[in-house]
Amino acid sequence: MRPDAKAASNNALGLLRPVKGEEGAIDAIGSEGDMRATVIHGPRDVRFEEWPEPRIVEPTDAIIRIAAACVCGSDLWPYRGLQPLNGATPMGHEYCGFVEDVGGDVRNVKPGQFVVGSFASSDNTCAHCQHGYQSSCVHREFLSGAQAPYFRVPLADGTLVPTPERPDDSMIPALLTASDVLGTGWFAADAANVRPGATVVVVGDGAVGLLGVLSARQMGAERIIAMSRHPSRQKLAREFGATDIVAERGEEGAARIKELTGGIGADSVLECVGTQDAMLQSIAAARPGGAVGFVGVPHGVSIDGAGLFFAHVRLHGGPAPVRRYLPHLIDLVLQGAIDPGRVFDLVLPLEQVAEGYAAMDDRRAIKALLQP
Ligand SMILES: [Zn+2]
Repeated sequence: MRPDAKAASNNALGLLRPVKGEEGAIDAIGSEGDMRATVIHGPRDVRFEEWPEPRIVEPTDAIIRIAAACVCGSDLWPYRGLQPLNGATPMGHEYCGFVEDVGGDVRNVKPGQFVVGSFASSDNTCAHCQHGYQSSCVHREFLSGAQAPYFRVPLADGTLVPTPERPDDSMIPALLTASDVLGTGWFAADAANVRPGATVVVVGDGAVGLLGVLSARQMGAERIIAMSRHPSRQKLAREFGATDIVAERGEEGAARIKELTGGIGADSVLECVGTQDAMLQSIAAARPGGAVGFVGVPHGVSIDGAGLFFAHVRLHGGPAPVRRYLPHLIDLVLQGAIDPGRVFDLVLPLEQVAEGYAAMDDRRAIKALLQP
């Protein structure tokens, strides 16, 4: 087994070193078991190129034949040069597909099954997992490399959830969203303590924010105010359950929320961006005693302690424990109760992945689905 194979398939958020040589040499081209996969080399330099096909490394691994993958909003941080890269890095962490192979210790999933997995691996047995925070599992790895025909998933038993039977092809986009974007929107709503009858504000009209609207609706929110200034996104937000749209941002946006809520503020605010402005706007939009669920990966966010103290607001967020929600979200999709796959407004063959990044970067597309 290649010593670097583990890093190859598990290099997200810059936490693990990438695989290739410092000089970017591609030593494996043409050898048996290669595939073509999505690799980022630097800002706005995404290539679909030869990459070693993943293999079982640990006896707890599974290899997935990807049915569909997609580009995540968080993939745009390194794409825009806002997150440092350490050499060529395989991309993609939202995935679903068919189990191709499993290691000798895997018990819960079998070759041929259709599975959806979290972007973070988990054993699903440690104390953090048992508390429902699988994305803080003591054995967690942030996965990367799913924008490819094949993908290695560590701790397969604790990371993957099989569907009861092979889903209809039409369900695959919706099931794919459960892997991250829907799971993250759901966590935003859960962390913001959305309850039946609640007034909810969603900051951010990217795919996570839009699915935060859908999640809040599923949790019984009565009023859902989506903050968006893009007509196509406003329309989808309304279809997912938003009752009001606010186009203003920042202090103006927070003032508009106060106005719409009789001067009180929202019970729950979903922060789905990760910038300083979005976080401050979210805290300002919540009522005293309200909660902000924040799931945008923070970039340059700092919060003043005294400001937070007097805001009287609860903050909870982090990388979404998608694994906790997967069984429920898969059920909702298979029952036809939700159709989160509608966030995909661009479908591309995997080899055109670079166009998916460019379209999302330009905000020409909300989210790009990739088909191997
Ligand atoms: Zn664990």
